[in-house]
Amino acid sequence: MTNSANQLQKPLTTKINDAGNIEIGGCDTVELAEKYNTPLYVIDEKTLRTICADYKKAFEKYPKTNIMYASKALCTSAIAAVLDEEGFGFDTVSGGEIYTVHNANVDMSKVLFNGNNKSFEELNLALDLGVGRISVDNFYELALLNTIAQSKNKIVDILLRITPGIECHTHQYIQTGHLDSKFGFDLTQIDDAIELILNEYTNLKLHGLHAHIGSQIFETSIYADEVDILCKELSRIDDKFGLKLDEINIGGGLGVKYTQGDNPPSTYEIGEIIINSLHKAIEKYNIDPPSLFLEPGRSIISTAGITLYTIGSSKQVPHGKKYVSIDGGMADNPRPSLYQAKYYAQIANKKETDELELVTIGGRFCESGDILIENAQLPKLDEGDILCVYNTGAYNYSMASNYNRVEKPAIVLVNNGQSEVIVKRETLDDLIRCDVIPDRLKKYE
Ligand SMILES: *Cc1c(COP(=O)(O)O)cnc(C)c1O
Repeated sequence: MTNSANQLQKPLTTKINDAGNIEIGGCDTVELAEKYNTPLYVIDEKTLRTICADYKKAFEKYPKTNIMYASKALCTSAIAAVLDEEGFGFDTVSGGEIYTVHNANVDMSKVLFNGNNKSFEELNLALDLGVGRISVDNFYELALLNTIAQSKNKIVDILLRITPGIECHTHQYIQTGHLDSKFGFDLTQIDDAIELILNEYTNLKLHGLHAHIGSQIFETSIYADEVDILCKELSRIDDKFGLKLDEINIGGGLGVKYTQGDNPPSTYEIGEIIINSLHKAIEKYNIDPPSLFLEPGRSIISTAGITLYTIGSSKQVPHGKKYVSIDGGMADNPRPSLYQAKYYAQIANKKETDELELVTIGGRFCESGDILIENAQLPKLDEGDILCVYNTGAYNYSMASNYNRVEKPAIVLVNNGQSEVIVKRETLDDLIRCDVIPDRLKKYE
């Protein structure tokens, strides 16, 4: 089976250059750190576009496939512009993501709005900006959306988010398709929802079903199970209500290679499994071939991203570990403290000779749990060395905070030796931009 770029541990342009430094996208990472300061997120455009091409190729045998990038993995205006150029749509989960892709001049009919507790304001914004599909998650939202649609005299195109009852073997916090989940309608509630849509909520037009079974998935067979369940429901709904739904959205979830032990399937492998199971289900349930929507997030952007940090203080605990501190940590990458996520790192300015030492990379934030990597094998470290952490494109910047009142890092896009800032580093003034001091507390005029 053909490999795809989401299976790489590093961006595909990664190499050691003549200066002996790690180079990505034709740019020396040590120079990037000097020029833009650290911590710094770097996205390799070539890796990102190669993964997009892999996905398109993997699904070209089913022409009714539409790929929607799950923006929550990394949502900035420039990233949206790249994915728009690649012909992808967008899965969004907030007014902020909708506003961001709109800012990139994306065709909003290719945007889906998804989430288990969308607000009145967010649904309003989605309708005003012409978002193409709303994936309705629950009964409360059905009623709310219908009221908003009525007030605007609009018919709104929707999907129903369902919980297919599939358990995948991933971290509990990133499983979403098992029965006892906060997301979506239970299979036993679908019919009540459809009755309401057909009889009461007449400003809603139902097109299909949507599910998402989890994240960082390595088992390909659960996609086949998911496709089967969705198609079976389409056929059952047609039989019972005479309603022909022609869209299934199977969500995202394909895994990436954070560590040497991770062996994610290729896009080609899941493409084949999904398309084969779809053909089988179409025949088995005797339905018309539905449009197929996918929503990969992590597997699109993770591998394209790295984070650069500068090494600072270090501490040898007597008879214990050696801790080395970096100038970032849980505020720019909360995944290790949130899910015990593992990362692989190298030193950008040092060769991996046999003089390796075992160190624990600690973040700079005031929490004992702010450990980026336990037991990293790295060359002997000095202050000022540049640490390059791989596979940080997804769920790093998008989950970043200003904990300890620290400015969020910049994001730089690299390609063919060029680097461009796509998100500016926050400044101290950005940090106080929303602060208000009531007059009675003001010390100076
Ligand atoms: C998070 C999410 C995705 C993307 O998941 P990845 O694991 O990043 O591919 C897709 N669809 C829905 C509904 C999601 O919640």
